[in-house]
Amino acid sequence: MRIDFSGSPLRGRPYSEKPMTFCPPEDLNAWAGIIDLIAVETGERAAREHWQAAQFRNLLSHALQHSAFWRQRLGAKRLPANIKLADLPVLTRSALRAQVAAEDSLVKPPNPLPVQKHATSGSSGTPVEFFATKMNITYNHMRYFAQFFIYGLDVSLNMARFRTKPVDDPAGFTVKHEASWSNQQRLLRCGTMKFIQFYRPEIPQLCEELRRSPVGYFVSGPDIVEYLLQEVTPEFFVEIGTRMFIPISATFDAATLQLFADVDLPVAATYSAEEVGPIANECLKAPGHYHVATSNVIVEVDMSAPVDVDGELLGRVLVTHLHSYATPFIRYDIGDLARLAPTCPCGHDGPALSHIYGRSKQLIQFADGRLKPFFIRGSTLVEVAPLKEYRFRQTAPAVLAVEFVADEALPAPVFEALAALIRRHTGEDFEIRLQQVAEIDWANDTKRLGFRNELLT
Ligand SMILES: [Zn+2]
Repeated sequence: MRIDFSGSPLRGRPYSEKPMTFCPPEDLNAWAGIIDLIAVETGERAAREHWQAAQFRNLLSHALQHSAFWRQRLGAKRLPANIKLADLPVLTRSALRAQVAAEDSLVKPPNPLPVQKHATSGSSGTPVEFFATKMNITYNHMRYFAQFFIYGLDVSLNMARFRTKPVDDPAGFTVKHEASWSNQQRLLRCGTMKFIQFYRPEIPQLCEELRRSPVGYFVSGPDIVEYLLQEVTPEFFVEIGTRMFIPISATFDAATLQLFADVDLPVAATYSAEEVGPIANECLKAPGHYHVATSNVIVEVDMSAPVDVDGELLGRVLVTHLHSYATPFIRYDIGDLARLAPTCPCGHDGPALSHIYGRSKQLIQFADGRLKPFFIRGSTLVEVAPLKEYRFRQTAPAVLAVEFVADEALPAPVFEALAALIRRHTGEDFEIRLQQVAEIDWANDTKRLGFRNELLT
């Protein structure tokens, strides 16, 4: 093991000027927090599992002490000896809602830890409300930063982070600059942050903005990348100084991944959820496999009722968030399907997920129950019809409702061409209900997902 700062640019004047000191204590504390997490994530498996078992018991003990809901679930007032995670029932969204509505936060005065109420964006169904402590927020920032060291990446590179949100600017996007993309590390100099909020951006102007300074880490949902690829080639991303894509919420489709592989641009997706924070990070050596964030969660995949997704048998992802003291998430059904292996093909000695799909966000269901990932590239749709915005929803077995916005009323042959294109992805058995609308009513869906399955929750 070698720790050496010679290749890492240091911030301004990083060392203390006081007698018998080296670095300012607050800088060391931030650094120690990072080391803490890396020790758990990458250390010996038996020690890590022992730590997780102790944290699980701590959390459950807290829940039993402060929550009638959890006492009733366990049928016990005190922590049973040798209780295993698998002994507990699955926590559904509706059960979670009931607990939060009845009991509020389980961390409350005299406990001095600050607590905030949060709500999910509603992109995967009705939003859920929950409470999180300040420790959860701090942890999430630190764990995010620690991942760069686990990957062995250069933190002095810049970052561009994208978020879908309605904006007033006529160019369809706004830009906010920050001097550093992390406030967790004060010893090292991090690259700058460009935070871009967008909604139907003007691509030439967005490209001009992206050319202004080297992008470095390109952090976004797949949507903006798909949108850009309607007008630029993959080489454009190399030209603007992209060094790595970090997709959030979902990774790119296979065709896009290949485009970036062809120009040697690495992709490392993060798998996280608003309720529990980081769940897993994609392996750099074995793409498609995700190392579980063991300092934050225990992940199980329930294979009791396996589901066939495109020929792979997958199960429901259950997440236990080890630091969820305000609102316990224990065996929480996060709404995704995946496969879980005890180790990663790269040799990482820890649990690894693969074939991760959002049940309601990425899969269509056939009449016989089979599921298949559904994705049509934006550029493919625009080749057939001048769509400005669209949304696909599976509303009934073998029925796909498609709403779209365009500048002018589209003629019948264009409708037919669109329906034919969509049927190439769904098969002939699907009824395609196309509807041109003035605006799409996104309601709670702040992420504005292009596809939603309303049958699967
Ligand atoms: Zn790996």
